[in-house]
Amino acid sequence: MAKRDYYEVLGVSRGATEEEIKKAYRKMALKYHPDRNQGDKAAEEKFKEASEAYEALSDREKRAAYDRFGHAAFSNAGRGAPGGGFHDPMDIFQQFFGGAGGFSFGDLFGGAGGESREHVQSGNDLRYDLRITFKEACFGVEKEVAIRRHEACGECKGSGAAAGSSTTRCAQCGGRGQVGMSRGFFMVSQTCPRCRGSGQVIERPCRACRGAGLQEKTAQIKIRVPGGVENGMRLRSSNNGDHGPRGGPPGDLYVVLHVDEHEIFTRDGEDIACEIPITFAMASLGGEMEVPTLEGTTRVKVPAGTQSGTGFRLRGRGAKALDGASFGDLHVRVHVEVPHRLNHDQRRKLEEFAKACGEDAYPRRRAFLDRVRRMF
Ligand SMILES: [Zn+2]
Ligand SMILES: [Zn+2]
Repeated sequence: MAKRDYYEVLGVSRGATEEEIKKAYRKMALKYHPDRNQGDKAAEEKFKEASEAYEALSDREKRAAYDRFGHAAFSNAGRGAPGGGFHDPMDIFQQFFGGAGGFSFGDLFGGAGGESREHVQSGNDLRYDLRITFKEACFGVEKEVAIRRHEACGECKGSGAAAGSSTTRCAQCGGRGQVGMSRGFFMVSQTCPRCRGSGQVIERPCRACRGAGLQEKTAQIKIRVPGGVENGMRLRSSNNGDHGPRGGPPGDLYVVLHVDEHEIFTRDGEDIACEIPITFAMASLGGEMEVPTLEGTTRVKVPAGTQSGTGFRLRGRGAKALDGASFGDLHVRVHVEVPHRLNHDQRRKLEEFAKACGEDAYPRRRAFLDRVRRMF
């Protein structure tokens, strides 16, 4: 592949000033830095290409040679090559940003703010813990909650200035809201400490909000909780957080859900489950049991000879799926309850019953005893 023209690589004209070349390289190096493009081969190539181009064009001698001879100026066969090959692109990058050790790429994009940082401050995100019932989690619910949050001050309409008072441009940052701090070649901009990023200084601050432009207020906010949510899930209510100072965009409200346990049901995703005790007689004779669901009770047939632990599935009687398209099932497990205490009459009848049954009524027990006998 033919080597691309260095000016073209950096996207500058042949007559570009040193400053323009610097700026172009800075932009490309940050964009294609390997830390930011993990495993992206194309980005790595661009990073290398840009670093090489910058190294050549930022040095007056090298640039002059390149302008005369092109890439040949730097090849071994080149005439009058002004010094060896190229440095490691990482070294070029480090030199450029003046990071003699202790430099972390993250610093450039961290809180201190890079070039792209907006001057308007946005409001804080807020958290609200919302307690809902088991059934509300299954089917969804709409709740109105009272949130304490910062809103534009009613007195000054959010400007922070007292009535009749004017705002002037901040002298420290010239109204940009950011001040530069040098770090080697590279200027890091920071939020201006005087005007706190607004670019303006208030002559007489509003008394209601002390110039902040914000006041704490209680807002009633509707939260739509979809069916199928689970304990610990977080819902985002966009733009319902704190309002930003001086017209800055609001933050978001995060609603963390706390789902109450149910006395009868447990839940596994969309499916719910419960255990129902049935009498020994019903299990033996069969019948109909009353089954609770989230929306009332229903009746389910119990076949004669139902064993303890037998499960029944009621389709579509579970929780709503989170996508809202379907419902889970209700799983019912029966537990055969043996009479806890018998009176004289009951005891006599049961003894009679036992005598009448014999082994044939209990095939599992018979099979088990057979196995035990074979063992010895
Ligand atoms: Zn300022
Ligand atoms: Zn105010």
